[in-house]
Amino acid sequence: MKKRILVLSLSIGFFACNQTAKEVPEGNEIILTEVAEEPTKPEETEIWGPTPKIVTVDSRTGIPSDAIVLFDGSNFDQWISAKDSTAVKWDLNTDGSMTVKDKAGDIQTKRDFGSVQLHLEWRSNPAKRLSGQNRSNSGVFLQNRYEVQILDNNDNDTYVNGQVGSIYKQSIPLAKASSPTGDWNTYDIIYHQPVFSSNGELTQKATITVLHNGVLVQDHYQIKGTTEYIGWPKNTAHGKQPIKLQDHQDQSGVSYKNIWVRELLD
Ligand code: MG
Repeated sequence: MKKRILVLSLSIGFFACNQTAKEVPEGNEIILTEVAEEPTKPEETEIWGPTPKIVTVDSRTGIPSDAIVLFDGSNFDQWISAKDSTAVKWDLNTDGSMTVKDKAGDIQTKRDFGSVQLHLEWRSNPAKRLSGQNRSNSGVFLQNRYEVQILDNNDNDTYVNGQVGSIYKQSIPLAKASSPTGDWNTYDIIYHQPVFSSNGELTQKATITVLHNGVLVQDHYQIKGTTEYIGWPKNTAHGKQPIKLQDHQDQSGVSYKNIWVRELLD
């Protein structure tokens, strides 16, 4: 959040409109601290610190150096069954992916997360040809309650606020950027958690940006609350929570691979 402090000059020129605010850095932000003349030298508007941390990207995997790898295809170490915290019962495949096991239930991370940058890859199952919401339906839930829909919508229409890339029952995606059925899709998600007051009232909505195969489908959307199948969004105060992947219990056959997350500061 950008804080701004404006200290007005009490000089004779108080009402002079030709004065402009001087911006000086504080952390990664710029804060107005005084009224000053328009800079005349480039150095006056240069900021030299603090310097951003260095993050490198693995050229083979594409994973940033400060990311937490949630799934690399080798095991379910970062995950548990959501309903009873037991070991994950989904299928671990030999190609580095995992597949939803029908009626085995949702899975969630062992760790809790607040605001994150999340990358995951998923694909629908071409052998599953049910219609509407029952064709390769899964979903990724931020903080265990806000769903980005996963669905095979290729030649398969449904309500648009529940199609692939939607914030379920809330926000229609800006585009349908699906890969052909059976091919891998990427989701890159920037999520900022909501803020609640000490008495539990929502004071700042969560926001979410989603890129589907590199295409912007959610643009800093302000999440209204929980993504309910029936009913209006709800807002109950919460802190950090797991990331959850959905078993829609309709033989979806959705697979996932290459899941990593970077924790963000609020
Ligand atoms: Mg779903």
